Amino acid sequence: MTDAKQVKLKPGDTIGILGGGQLGRMLAMAAARLGLRCQVFSPDPDSPAFDVVLNATCAEYADVEALELFANDVDVITYEFENVPSAAAMVLDARRPVLPNRKILETTQDRLAEKDFVTRLGIGTAAYADVTSVPSLREAIARIGLPAVLKTRRFGYDGKGQAIIREGDDIAKVWTSLATKSAILEAFVPYEREISVIAARSATGQVECFDVTENEHRDHILKISRAPARIPDVLAEEARSIAGKIAGALDYVGVLAVEMFVLANGTGPKVLVNEIAPRVHNSGHWTLDGASVSQFEQHIRAIAGWPLGKPVRHGEVVTMTNLIGDEINEYDKWLSVPGATVHIYGKGAPRPGRKMGHVTEVRPTTGK
Ligand code: AMP
Repeated sequence: MTDAKQVKLKPGDTIGILGGGQLGRMLAMAAARLGLRCQVFSPDPDSPAFDVVLNATCAEYADVEALELFANDVDVITYEFENVPSAAAMVLDARRPVLPNRKILETTQDRLAEKDFVTRLGIGTAAYADVTSVPSLREAIARIGLPAVLKTRRFGYDGKGQAIIREGDDIAKVWTSLATKSAILEAFVPYEREISVIAARSATGQVECFDVTENEHRDHILKISRAPARIPDVLAEEARSIAGKIAGALDYVGVLAVEMFVLANGTGPKVLVNEIAPRVHNSGHWTLDGASVSQFEQHIRAIAGWPLGKPVRHGEVVTMTNLIGDEINEYDKWLSVPGATVHIYGKGAPRPGRKMGHVTEVRPTTGK
């Protein structure tokens, strides 16, 4: 494992990106603007990131030879998704620096390990319990109460691998529906709003957070992000300092997102951490058009060993609207909206729930 502090790329050097989705694509585009090349590794021949790089490796993550050849071609390796198989990360790490450090994946790939880690830092989360069977689920419910959210420990995203349990539900049936042996039960948080902090950390420990973002989901998928979040300054400061603390404790190099709930309770508002994403994040897409430096550029700068930018927001309010599934077919309508910036990911079929593009609007007031 190479010391991240030793990585110092120069223009013309090559970054390897694991994963070929829209995040990889936007990372590669940000790298290109800084004179850096990218090579993308993805098993999917239709990867949208392949379209924007000269060299691509289309192979399975279990293909050791392909991983080795890929590593030989690049100067540093990063990833655009958190479920990188640990065996692949190990093969790569033996050859080139992998940033953020692959050890971080062990914490963030497992909801229980992640919650334990956050709790050890003295940061609040929803009450939670390890669940492995129907009896342990019953015990957890007795302790945590209902309603509660049952989540698979691994591989959950966009609400997949989750079930809300309410008073009167058939517990055994809910457990079977999740089809797992390892889950966590979380207390249902009656949140006032959902926010996220996108933080960048360099190998030298410099941390730069973007303005706190407020997120609205539809059908468990992010639909709209707004920056800055409509929360008091002290709360925004607390949220940013939580993200900085997490990044520091992980000795993180790159961009990470921390999703949080804002709770309006009797003793005043407070924040609870929901999830850490060790990568650039959908709720940070507004930074491409709404800030002096984007989350993608910050990530590239961090893993290249370059100084981070100090992000300055362009407008008073920035919104980012995801174009999901068939909504992409309305792209020409968005092209005519004054002040709107349209991003189309170049994916194939617009399946329901598939993120196909997004639109950013930078506006002087909150009114639409
Ligand atoms: P997650 O996969 O953990 O990010 O959860 C997806 C979404 O489900 C979140 O953005 C929330 O809208 C909702 N959610 C997750 N956990 C909880 C919880 N403990 N209480 C209330 N809502 C939740």
